[in-house]
Amino acid sequence: MHKLIPMNELFADVILPLPLHDTYTYRIPAEWEGSVLPGKRVLVSFGRTKIYSALVIAVHSVAPKGMEIKEIVRLLDEEPLLSPVNLELWRWISRYYLSPMGDVMRSALPSGLERYKPRMIPVITLHPELTSTEQWDGVLTGLTKARKQKALLVHIGKLMFVFTSGQKSEIPKKIVAQSEYFSEAALKQLVQKNIIRIQSRQVSRLDSIPPERVPLSLLSDSQQEAFLEIRNQFRNKQTVLLYGVTASGKTEVYIRLIEETLRQHKQVLYLVPEISLTPQIVIRLQQAFGNRVGVYHSKMDDAQRVEVWNKVLSFSSNPDDSYQIILGARSSLFLPFVRPGLIIVDEEHENSYKQSDSSPRYHARDMAVVAGMIYNVPVLLGSATPSFESWHNAKTGKYGLVTLSSRYGAATMPEIVIADTARAWKRKQMHAMLTPELYGKIGEALERREQVILFQNRRGYSPFIECMNCGWVPKCVNCDVSLTLHRKSDRMNCHYCGYGIPIPRTCGKCGAPDIKGRGFGTEKVEEELSLLFPGARIARMDLDSTRSRTAFDKIISQLEHHKIDILAGTQMVTKGLDFGNVSVVGILNADHLINYPDFRAYERAFQLMTQVSGRSGRKEKKGCVVIQTSHPEHPVIQYVKGNDFEAVFNALMPERKLFQYPPWYRLVKIAVRHRDQARAAEASGWLADHLRSKAPYTVLGPESPLVSRVQQWYIREVWLKIARDGHAGDMQRMVTEAVEMTKKRAGNSGIVIQIDVDAV
Ligand code: ADP
Ligand code: ZN
Ligand code: ZN
Repeated sequence: MHKLIPMNELFADVILPLPLHDTYTYRIPAEWEGSVLPGKRVLVSFGRTKIYSALVIAVHSVAPKGMEIKEIVRLLDEEPLLSPVNLELWRWISRYYLSPMGDVMRSALPSGLERYKPRMIPVITLHPELTSTEQWDGVLTGLTKARKQKALLVHIGKLMFVFTSGQKSEIPKKIVAQSEYFSEAALKQLVQKNIIRIQSRQVSRLDSIPPERVPLSLLSDSQQEAFLEIRNQFRNKQTVLLYGVTASGKTEVYIRLIEETLRQHKQVLYLVPEISLTPQIVIRLQQAFGNRVGVYHSKMDDAQRVEVWNKVLSFSSNPDDSYQIILGARSSLFLPFVRPGLIIVDEEHENSYKQSDSSPRYHARDMAVVAGMIYNVPVLLGSATPSFESWHNAKTGKYGLVTLSSRYGAATMPEIVIADTARAWKRKQMHAMLTPELYGKIGEALERREQVILFQNRRGYSPFIECMNCGWVPKCVNCDVSLTLHRKSDRMNCHYCGYGIPIPRTCGKCGAPDIKGRGFGTEKVEEELSLLFPGARIARMDLDSTRSRTAFDKIISQLEHHKIDILAGTQMVTKGLDFGNVSVVGILNADHLINYPDFRAYERAFQLMTQVSGRSGRKEKKGCVVIQTSHPEHPVIQYVKGNDFEAVFNALMPERKLFQYPPWYRLVKIAVRHRDQARAAEASGWLADHLRSKAPYTVLGPESPLVSRVQQWYIREVWLKIARDGHAGDMQRMVTEAVEMTKKRAGNSGIVIQIDVDAV
């Protein structure tokens, strides 16, 4: 007799929601054969007793050797949450960024998927047979004695007609309940008499009333040319870079490409760096495409994110009630697109595309380019100040390149004035932090009833305070930084950990009463402006003034309706604002940007100054930008003045090569953290030596970062520089192994090591 061998036994590889690099294999019970599929979640046991919800990523018949295989406990989903192609992208991220698949999953899947309950509301409908006018009259006559019920029913009838434009005969109970005719008792009577019914309806948690539709704008000749050229280049290139100066009208070009993709019944992903900072784009897209546009970002609540997820997923099965366009922040790359057709990465140079503070530390622009390859869809990167990485790729032919070199319509590039702060100080010509040039321009703009934006890259009142007697500076107890003075809250705060103290009136060291604020932040700018321009309406836009969503929206709306004359703010004011009445922009201290100790400082300084300059003169009004600096001759300042992106790029690229920096080299940062300073030093030293002995590339460090202690963790960094065209060996494996070995060494139990590939 033959022993019966089970035929075609099936196994599932799953990702566990844990920071583990491996996937794990479970046996599929016979009853679920055919229904356990990649993209569905299952319950499995892991470790001794723990049960986890895991995601199936492969189904196969290869029995793992030499170990006991557990069975899947339960199948959770009827339909896959995402497709194998979507999963392909996860695999790439995990491999490239050295992130455990469990981390990728936790980042990708909205955590609300498990607890998601549809939101139900009671709605009122009429009895289905109550259709003709005669029946209606009959019912009303029958209610002659029940005056309250009759009044309520008449009211419901009216509302229903207005509310649904006579199309659907149902109305949320909440709306009826607002009426003076409403009472629970009368409603109950009507239900009992079988005249109306109350049913439960599933409703969306997402805002579903888009602004009124507006026909697409007619493209200008140069926009039309750019549009055709992009389309043309997509024939040969997966990725095209649209280099369009500020206010050249890149958005309208995107919209045209989106429209075309929609007509092919495909989905579009439109990435923006920080969605909350760009409310105008949301409105513009909704005007163009109505409720086919969904918005997705990490600040939405869990249930909302689940709804968006499902509406992206249901595009092929239920196109009418799904999202065809997603406007989102970086995390929207993880959405389960079923028929992707186009990916747009607006402001592709923005650093906020990089997720730096938690694993997976991915860069959304680079991930979008890879998604383009995996989905086989075109990717459009857009910027007025491209990243060196993208420009390099465009110049070497890896990406296509299309240029829009003039502003849309009658708008011209702003005039750029460079104001020498050192000279003005010496001549005692400064008006607080304003040079005579900027002071004059603001005054003129106010006279012409135009608006002004001022940029200062520091929030709070003063970045630090100092004892005039002994030089004492109050510092954070948890971090290696000085405390920032905030007048509004009357405290000194740490911008890294939130630690704060009351403002000291005397020196903490020598007791002298002579303490002075040093430098200036946005709070001080706001205060000084109100003294310098007493009639002007001044507002501040920074992290502190926009903690609530409504506060931010209020500033935007006040700007739009010219309830603000001067807006002073941090980086927030440099991004995306599109207001035609803003004519003057001031950069209060360009020295900070240029002197920042980072190899990308000049690239960033150029980007920031160009972007904030781009907020001025966007429509008919001629724009003017005043850049205040004590280095008027500095090349970066001159490049901004000449609006010469290529010159900055060409000037800096040789250095980048010489010192082995991107885009020539890839940078991998390994941050070693420990509560004990000596352990952090020892462990990072060992790690660096170990890598140096193995790796065929440059290993730097360990060194202290700019802020070497944060929240009581001591930080040391080891950097790898890996030639893009050379052989990195098996970098991923080598680094992962070295990190694991470091963690396992004696005394290193409290250690945290983070790997950041392509750190920015
Ligand atoms: P960019 O993104 O390149 O900085 P925008 O897309 O914001 O520029 O366009 C700048 C301004 O010009 C916006 O106010 C926009 O509405 C307007 N604009 C651009 N193209 C057109 C067009 N074809 N028709 C009408 N207005 C346009
Ligand atoms: Zn002192
Ligand atoms: Zn701190």
